[in-house]
Amino acid sequence: MKFARKCKPGEDIKKTGKKVAIIGAGPAGLAAAGELICVGHEVHVYDMLPEPGGLLVFGIPEFRIPKKGVRQGINELKEIGVVFHQNTKVGRDIDLEDIIKEFDAVLIATGTWKSRKLNVPGEKLDGVMSALEFIVDFHLHKYGYLDHEPRFQGTVLVVGGGLTAVDACYIAKEAGAEKILLYYRRTRDVAPAGAKEFEKLENFGVEVNELTQPIEFIAGEGKKVAAVKAIRMKLGEPDSSGRPRPVPIEGSEFVREITAALIAAGEIATPPFENGKYGIELTKWNTIKTDKKYRTTRKGVFAAGDVITGPSLIGPAMAGGRRAASAIIEYLETGEWGWEE
Ligand SMILES: Cc1cc2nc3c(=O)[nH]c(=O)nc-3n(C[C@H](O)[C@H](O)[C@H](O)COP(=O)(O)OP(=O)(O)OC[C@H]3O[C@@H](n4cnc5c(N)ncnc54)[C@H](O)[C@@H]3O)c2cc1C
Repeated sequence: MKFARKCKPGEDIKKTGKKVAIIGAGPAGLAAAGELICVGHEVHVYDMLPEPGGLLVFGIPEFRIPKKGVRQGINELKEIGVVFHQNTKVGRDIDLEDIIKEFDAVLIATGTWKSRKLNVPGEKLDGVMSALEFIVDFHLHKYGYLDHEPRFQGTVLVVGGGLTAVDACYIAKEAGAEKILLYYRRTRDVAPAGAKEFEKLENFGVEVNELTQPIEFIAGEGKKVAAVKAIRMKLGEPDSSGRPRPVPIEGSEFVREITAALIAAGEIATPPFENGKYGIELTKWNTIKTDKKYRTTRKGVFAAGDVITGPSLIGPAMAGGRRAASAIIEYLETGEWGWEE
């Protein structure tokens, strides 16, 4: 995967003397790093995980994105001169204000690392967990960064209709699940992952239940989940998303035994600060507010990728990272700052 498009390792690049910090080594941050290093800026990338790549490495399974190509692209960035600071969580290990003061420009590309909850009884039982956390832990273990191996037995329930839910099904199988149930509250034709992915899951042996919503997780021994109570849904009038609103069908409740549940009800943007801190405003969706040149409300600080759009795809995240890098290059040349809707 190519992150540096305009220069190669070993090439003589005239230094500008300007320093740029990038927070988040996912596709948006890496694509921006590739543009900035090739024009001669000093580039430092800060990331909370032990290896760069973000969801490219720790989220998306190998069969969709082979890691060899991603790692090649990252190694190329290192050879050209990008400095990576891994295991460094901004807001915990280092203060954003200190970074802003040290660098001429900062790009925030921290993605969407918080999972929505279903807000149903029993969601705190052992064995009920965020699908994203499970997927990341699975990859951390697979690549040698985590001793504890996430493993399942018996029937695992996955809840959701996006790529996280789909990939959680495949990975749960790899982690030992004997049977996998997928519950999605709408129908596959309006699922964010697309109907084809549902078909592939069925061919893989997953029992797909559309128009089905968990309403309670039930404990067995101790605090361990042993069953799910769910309800069937029908489609009603369109909601704010433009899709038909799922409406519960009274009296259609049923109970299934499960050994674990992976919740993939959507991810929320995770800027490394609260709204307004450092003079940087967020939107009501917790994404970072930016103008058309990826400028935040704080001079010299830019943002790109899923942290400004909400959960998206690799292509748009990389394209956004590159456009933000162009805006940073322009700012470092002209010193001009403003706000253009
Ligand atoms: C399971 C799953 C499967 C997917 N499958 C596909 C697919 O097949 N095709 C596709 O196009 N898209 C897919 N996507 C979506 C795609 O991965 C994202 O849209 C894309 O990775 C977003 O890029 P990003 O750089 O904005 O954020 P991320 O990739 O999330 O990277 C953000 C980086 O910021 C770091 N970070 C976060 N907070 C901090 C902090 N406080 N301090 C330091 N570092 C921090 C994280 O460690 C991470 O490395 C999938 C997503 C998931 C979850």
